Amino acid sequence: WGAPYFCVNAAGDIAVRPHGAATLPHQEIDLMKVVKKASDPKSAGGLGLRLPLLVRLPDVLKHRLESLHAAFDFAIRSNGYGSRYQGVYPVKCNQDRYIVEDIVEFGSPFGFGLEAGSKAELLLAMNSLTRASLEAFLICNGYKDEEYIALALVARSMDLNTVIVLEQEEELDTVVETSHRLGIRPVIGLRAKLRTKHSGHFGSTSGEKGKFGLTTTQILSVAQKLQRLEMLDCLQLLHFHIGSQIPSTTLLADGVGEAAQIYCELARLGAAMRVIDIGGGLGIDYDGSHSSGSDMSVGYGLEEYAGAVVRAVMSACDRKHVRHPIICSESGRALVSHHSVLIFEAVSSSTTKAEPLPSIGSNLAYFLDELADDARSDYHNLMAAALDGEYETCALYADQLKRRCIDHFKDGVLGLEHLAAVDGLCDLVSKELGVADPVKTYHVNLSLFTSMPDFWAIGQLFPIVPIHRHDQRPAVKGILSDLTCDSDGKVDRFIGGQSSLPLHELGGGDGLGGGYYLGMFLGGAYQEALGGLHNLFGGPSVVRVSQADGSHCFAVTLAVPGPSCADVLRAMQHEPEVMFEALKHRAAECAAGDAVPRALALAFHSMPYLVCAATAAGVSASDGEGTD
Ligand code: PLP
Repeated sequence: WGAPYFCVNAAGDIAVRPHGAATLPHQEIDLMKVVKKASDPKSAGGLGLRLPLLVRLPDVLKHRLESLHAAFDFAIRSNGYGSRYQGVYPVKCNQDRYIVEDIVEFGSPFGFGLEAGSKAELLLAMNSLTRASLEAFLICNGYKDEEYIALALVARSMDLNTVIVLEQEEELDTVVETSHRLGIRPVIGLRAKLRTKHSGHFGSTSGEKGKFGLTTTQILSVAQKLQRLEMLDCLQLLHFHIGSQIPSTTLLADGVGEAAQIYCELARLGAAMRVIDIGGGLGIDYDGSHSSGSDMSVGYGLEEYAGAVVRAVMSACDRKHVRHPIICSESGRALVSHHSVLIFEAVSSSTTKAEPLPSIGSNLAYFLDELADDARSDYHNLMAAALDGEYETCALYADQLKRRCIDHFKDGVLGLEHLAAVDGLCDLVSKELGVADPVKTYHVNLSLFTSMPDFWAIGQLFPIVPIHRHDQRPAVKGILSDLTCDSDGKVDRFIGGQSSLPLHELGGGDGLGGGYYLGMFLGGAYQEALGGLHNLFGGPSVVRVSQADGSHCFAVTLAVPGPSCADVLRAMQHEPEVMFEALKHRAAECAAGDAVPRALALAFHSMPYLVCAATAAGVSASDGEGTD
């Protein structure tokens, strides 16, 4: 799943290959060095950011965009296609300012544009595209009211190449009225509801009963209405979207072929068609299986995707003698997923500390005395079976003893120390018999609901691996449990159908305060935009890490601390400043001491997450990698 951007280096750390396969060995960016640089509060240049840390990699973003463009370019040239590819980025995948600005900048040589699905997204897209080339599309999707349509028309009047895509037939009347009122002629697109149906999770977007788009009858009615209004020249684009993560090129070609027929029919009816917008759906290989049979993968790469699209459009247009349209795609997932890595720390594991052995040995008589008769006889049977080497019987008696003692505890006839001793004894027996649960729970400094909401909401799996110690065999199986007080806040399903991850024992790490650092990869699309404030854990700290020339391998070009407790409280309409004053007042009334106001201020200013080992230890980044 990591190819061609992530690899393991000689130090056993995960390294980023910012230019994909073209990356030279000395250009690889060691993620542990990035963590060190970002979190170290003491060394020169250390930024002292708290984890979790989102590492953005603009070079990877550039490489993705260029690769997508190159794939279409190749398909167009090799098939003799008569027009060009001009994509747009659907900002809903990640509206982060720097991502959008990067995409506009990197895409400028190709006329790459943006897609918006709401008024707020349209405003941000309009602003960003003022720096793009003039031909870059501004595609306006989503349900629209008059304000949205007016804004899109205003964008058109500012020479932004804006297309209003009708999602519903009724939007046409508003477009016509608003354009007359403002005196701005619109360029209109239609979203078609295709019959081709995507069978995977995202398939509900598609098919005759799909949520969006115009039916054949509605498409015809819009075309006729525009003709009556002498506005058929405004209709220039046909759009469809059959769902994200399209599993195979067979399904893709089927959908594109159907849309291309509608495109040709609209051209035949007199519309000034010139763009076919194939929506999103270009999938990525989350599990590395490269298989259309897995929900977490797709059975094609960029080249196969582009080839299938170009051939399907070309074949329909050639048959109907229609000029080849500009091909636009709205690829979001495939563009931004790889560009960020979320790094978080495992702070403890369920059995990190060896449980003190029950002190039964020295107090056996007292221990046995306190047990009820039935439990005492279980204990003796257990010991006899152990001496005879009858291990199955041993396990049965241990289980029975434990259950009985829990009942006695609930009835109030067994003390806490005795129950603890029985637990310890039974754990010891399980361990000796090799039947102890081999899966440990690693507590991680993260909120699942904030940082990987799709895992919780739709079962999306992301590759998760330690970012260091790959030169040591992982000896433990683990699942991850987050900081939220919610039983859903755990990762217990992993890539490849695994129910645990191979992990290392905590505490055996290298320089970063002995911390154990894990990375979640391929989460650059949707996760940040969807994540919430469960338990008031805000987003992570963010660094933007670029390839640097000269002696330094990377440069941190932007560092943003994650939201503080005050920030997340403010997001829920609390007033941290007022709260602080009230608490300070209360502390004074209680004569709580001089240290209290300072501790309160610190709490409001700190991130809600735990202080990680590297920040706490303040280790020095002796190799001084990176620049500010
Ligand atoms: N365009 C539209 C209309 C969408 O609904 C979506 C997402 O579902 C996209 C583009 C982006 O899709 P993807 O992330 O699969 O490229």
